[in-house]
Amino acid sequence: MELIAGPPALETGARLTIDLSALAANWQFLARHVEPAECAAVVKADAYGLGIAPAGRALWDAGARTFFVAHLTEARALRAALPAATIYVLGGLNPGSAPLYREIEARPVLGSLEEIAEWADAARGICAGCKAAIHIDTGMNRLGLSLAEASEVAVRLAAGTLGFTPCLVMSHLACADTPDNPLDARQLERFREAAAQFPGIPASLANSAATLEGGDFRFDLCRPGIALYGGAARGGVPETAPVVRLEARVIQVRDGAVGETVGYGATQTLARASRIAVLSLGYADGVLRAASSSDTHPGASVLLNGARCPLIGRISMDLVAVDVTDVSPPVQRGDRAVLLGDGIGVDELARHAGTIGYEVLTSLGHRYQRIYVGK
Ligand SMILES: *Cc1c(COP(=O)(O)O)cnc(C)c1O
Repeated sequence: MELIAGPPALETGARLTIDLSALAANWQFLARHVEPAECAAVVKADAYGLGIAPAGRALWDAGARTFFVAHLTEARALRAALPAATIYVLGGLNPGSAPLYREIEARPVLGSLEEIAEWADAARGICAGCKAAIHIDTGMNRLGLSLAEASEVAVRLAAGTLGFTPCLVMSHLACADTPDNPLDARQLERFREAAAQFPGIPASLANSAATLEGGDFRFDLCRPGIALYGGAARGGVPETAPVVRLEARVIQVRDGAVGETVGYGATQTLARASRIAVLSLGYADGVLRAASSSDTHPGASVLLNGARCPLIGRISMDLVAVDVTDVSPPVQRGDRAVLLGDGIGVDELARHAGTIGYEVLTSLGHRYQRIYVGK
């Protein structure tokens, strides 16, 4: 079955195909890998740019029951798609937002003593019976209670004076993508000690990289994100199947004479008489401008008629030029160039732009037609 979202094909320049079977299979692979721990799904930022409702439904059908988002608005969108899911909000409690957690039936991840105090107040009144997680910082120095604060909270919980019982204690790894980094072991040890102060409460540490690592990192609940979407979690090559395919229409094919330049800034000069195909997408569609090509620095490439074609010149807002001189059969207006897919992964495009697959995925635009296949 196919679900088509976004504008009609004839009104758009590019097409994004999202393979929901691959997404489901990636989750199932990770879930089996971490058994008997539970495997959640991180679907923040619109499921890494792929669409939180269709992605959430596919993950639910695959067996996922616990989901993590960053903001309440994302929890609201996911709740509309998945009435029975467990939904955690990583960004925690905005002041005054406790009643919204009751309304949406989402769980805040509380990361400071102020948030804990505000939640305890709510838990005595409007949010009685609602659930919340506690985030403990073990070395990332971003969100979460310090180890000393976590101990203080554990003492209050044991004494019955905390005001609520957390349903999950969690922490987040800073360097899980580099398994040799000593910070991984240090965070693991710190989290083990901190979580032990909350006996009987499920614990969670692993992002995708640590989920793939498995072993001691699993605890009770794993929280993979990027690996679900086919991105590389531990550097190098992805260990899960690609989920997205991005294709753009060729809107014009033209000749360029040797010595002419292409695009804004005239950053690339044609070294030979060239055939140039112009594609109807650009950095406004998530083809990051940093992946542009110049005389001194080659950029990304695309596939046309199965052949690798290098970009020429700068990526514009809505247009990209590629060198199709050597492609056979010759490229024609209306052909589709593959920017992601057929062996070009999000991490390859990311490398050309000096970034990571996460940023490529979450930059994917909203102008193109989106086709959800494989459900
Ligand atoms: C984003 C996020 C994850 C998922 O990370 P990936 O590297 O995409 O697997 C897990 N936990 C927290 C707290 C996060 O912010």
